[in-house]
Amino acid sequence: MMQHTASPDPSAHHAVFSATALLPRYPRVPDIPATGALWVLVSDQGVAIGNGEHPQIYAEAGPSQPGIVEYLGHIGTVPCYAAELQQGAPIPGDRVIIGIRDLYGRIPDRDLAVAAFAVRTIGSSKTSRFCGRCGHETLPVLSERAKRCPACDLVIYPRISPAIIVLITRGEEILLARSPRFPAVMHSVIAGFVEPGETLEHAVSREVLEEVGIAVKNIRYFASEPWPFPDSLMIAFVADYAGGEISIDNNEIVFAGWFGRDNLPGLPAKMSISRALIDSWVERKIPLS
Ligand SMILES: [Zn+2]
Repeated sequence: MMQHTASPDPSAHHAVFSATALLPRYPRVPDIPATGALWVLVSDQGVAIGNGEHPQIYAEAGPSQPGIVEYLGHIGTVPCYAAELQQGAPIPGDRVIIGIRDLYGRIPDRDLAVAAFAVRTIGSSKTSRFCGRCGHETLPVLSERAKRCPACDLVIYPRISPAIIVLITRGEEILLARSPRFPAVMHSVIAGFVEPGETLEHAVSREVLEEVGIAVKNIRYFASEPWPFPDSLMIAFVADYAGGEISIDNNEIVFAGWFGRDNLPGLPAKMSISRALIDSWVERKIPLS
């Protein structure tokens, strides 16, 4: 008899960009220690990593003239900071700057997650330097990951944009679709951002109906994954086909169809939760309805 995993197990999906190696401690010390800290050096969309067979993302000292500096969390008892490298400034040590996507597979996933978190933390810091309500310069909050406007008291949290992603099953087939933004031949599951006022389940039903014109039922949780390009939280579900004919909008989606295990098209990269969803279905490990 075929074995199925009947309930979603949060440990079943390895979330590549889960930065759990870092534990934030609050309230944090306002001053950055002169020694004994670790640094991730951030430049645009990449980080400076060491050369060699096992390149390190952590530096033992920050740049001499950093741009933005942000606390990331502690690794054990050691505080860890992200520091922005100023444009044109020399890169400390024997390091090279590599983009986050290009780091996948070159460094351990736990380091990749920290590198991506450092890039997005510097990015959020840049976009919250000034209060969106009154324009005053903001200050860091020491008791949580946020900034506060000293003039009007607005508290600004790093933006997290929730997006649903859903694998739709119909008997022994799944629905896969092509977005015009995908690389050639690649097909994936349906995804979209959650709108204000929606539950996650409603967002699933709406996105599926909008993009491929069908109805779904038995929507159930699969796993989640922080997706730092730039600030999504992907929440993945499985749903069953409930009715309707595939009808695409030719805008977000240029093709959609049903695929069996023996005729799968080109699929997303291994590091994505969409691929984890599809692989789990191929291995008959998705939560049953
Ligand atoms: Zn303000």
